Amino acid sequence: MPFSRLLPRTQKTSLLLVSIGAISALLAVVVVQTFYFSRQPVVQNVNYTELHALTTDAAVKSLSVEGELMMIEKVDGTRVQAIVTNAVAQQEIISVFEGKKLPVAFSPMQPGRLASALNWIIALLSLGVIGFVGWRLYASMSGGHGDFELTDASGAQTATFNDVAGVDEAKNELAETIEFLRDPQRFGRLGGRAPRGILMSGPPGTGKTLLARAAAHEANVPFLSVSGSSFQEKFAGLGAARVRRLFTRARKLAPCVVFIDEIDALGRRRGRSGDSASADQDQTLNQLLIEMDGFKQLEGVVVIASTNRPDILDSALTRPGRFDREITVNLADARGREEILRVHARKLTLAPDLELNWIARGTPGFSGADLANLLNEAAIAATRHNADSVCREHVEYARDKILMGAERHGFMMDEEERYATAVHEAGHVAVGVDVKHGDPIHKVSILPRGRALGVTQSLPERDRLMKKREYLEDQIALLLGGRAAEQILLETMTAGASNDIERAVEIARKMVSEFGMSPLGPIHLGKPEDPHSQSLLDRVEHATNDIINAQMARACEIVEARRDEIMQLTAGLMERDTLDSDEIQECFGIKSASRAA
Ligand code: ADP
Ligand code: ZN
Repeated sequence: MPFSRLLPRTQKTSLLLVSIGAISALLAVVVVQTFYFSRQPVVQNVNYTELHALTTDAAVKSLSVEGELMMIEKVDGTRVQAIVTNAVAQQEIISVFEGKKLPVAFSPMQPGRLASALNWIIALLSLGVIGFVGWRLYASMSGGHGDFELTDASGAQTATFNDVAGVDEAKNELAETIEFLRDPQRFGRLGGRAPRGILMSGPPGTGKTLLARAAAHEANVPFLSVSGSSFQEKFAGLGAARVRRLFTRARKLAPCVVFIDEIDALGRRRGRSGDSASADQDQTLNQLLIEMDGFKQLEGVVVIASTNRPDILDSALTRPGRFDREITVNLADARGREEILRVHARKLTLAPDLELNWIARGTPGFSGADLANLLNEAAIAATRHNADSVCREHVEYARDKILMGAERHGFMMDEEERYATAVHEAGHVAVGVDVKHGDPIHKVSILPRGRALGVTQSLPERDRLMKKREYLEDQIALLLGGRAAEQILLETMTAGASNDIERAVEIARKMVSEFGMSPLGPIHLGKPEDPHSQSLLDRVEHATNDIINAQMARACEIVEARRDEIMQLTAGLMERDTLDSDEIQECFGIKSASRAA
């Protein structure tokens, strides 16, 4: 399957490239052929009499006879030829050469070997090009076989359950499925209900794909994977045809695991709008449902689908006999993170004082993919520093890079912009230090990272499972602290605060419409498409505003009270770009309480 990983669009480009390549090769051959053969020394055509006259010339060197064509080569390399049809006449010339003991060569009347070989090559090449173009066209119309990724049970890129950590519950839930895949018939005899479809839901990067792959490996069956978005085809009906092909293939491979990544791309609720794209998606989804219903009980095909939006899926997908088991894969807690880190640290050399437990505690909210990335970045940093092992500082560097985005080099702010950014960030820090229920400020920086000009980084000391009202209010105040400092200390406002404001309003709106933390009481707005009275929406808007305004006032009060410290912090930032938590605490006159980072 040489083209197995090409997607439809790249297929077309590659088709074009290959055709262009073949055609230019063909042209090159033609050109070489014409030139090569026309480059031979020019041959002078004469009649028999003139040719015969030449034979007496002392300057002749050799004679060659090719059917009726006789050619004399002179000592100086020039050639003279004539058509001599009469055999007797030919013999006359030949005998003169023989008399002089000059070489005479006979060759059959045929083009040269090279020429005929080239002719064959050209013919074959043209056939090849025509055939190839035809095949690719056919393949791209019908999808061919190469559009699903297949991993054999013995393949090198398989994962085992040992490579997946911190998701024991999910592993337990998959145990029965693995049992079934190992021997579908036996499973049936023992009276088990054959699993068909499993929906894995959870945030991105939590190891859903890895789990499915490992399950196939544990059962020692092939793993056929495909992305839900690859069913969105340009031409109507092709998506459904792809689904049909996928399952035809799966039945041949059975027992096997079919994995559909991002099933939400094709499994959205049907009949949303009348446009043709969504009609085509409906058709694709219908085909998937038909295929899943068509499984015989013990056929041995298990379909695992993953999504991070189970709420938007068509309810028909989760009916009995389809994706009737849901496995939720959540972000790991500190202990789970430590286990995941252990998996990925296997191939690294860690400094003796670098404890995985310490990294795990400092990375709440990190997914498995984030943690893998963290260790990878740390290892890269260690290599760059020529260190023997990965140390704390490399991990801290990697964590900052992941949390705050990579520093943007070659992007210069002028002094005025740097100053405004420093004051803004110092405002965040001041509020962060003042509030009681927030997370400790970990770092502040005015080096541009990602899209932000500056960053204030707070880091939860632990996983917060429960968020209290006071914590949310403190977060809003912290977010508004930057704007408060602009207003009070710079007497202006910058557009840089827009992201802060957006996040603050989002929290406030959730407090009102989901958590019931406003004078409106415990209300729940639910999905945007659910009907709500305009008056309720207006009141929610009001209550949200009230929260924002109250916290803005609070942030301003804090900034007023902390003016001196903010100016000191600003100076520090102007000088050093980035300050860590010890330096921050120094500015605010806090004796280094040394909170465990
Ligand atoms: P998802 O399918 O949930 O988006 P993936 O399975 O693609 O996530 O995870 C991406 C990568 O992150 C994996 O290849 C693995 O390196 C790492 N990873 C994610 N979760 C885990 C985990 N629980 N244990 C070990 N590694 C993990
Ligand atoms: Zn800000």
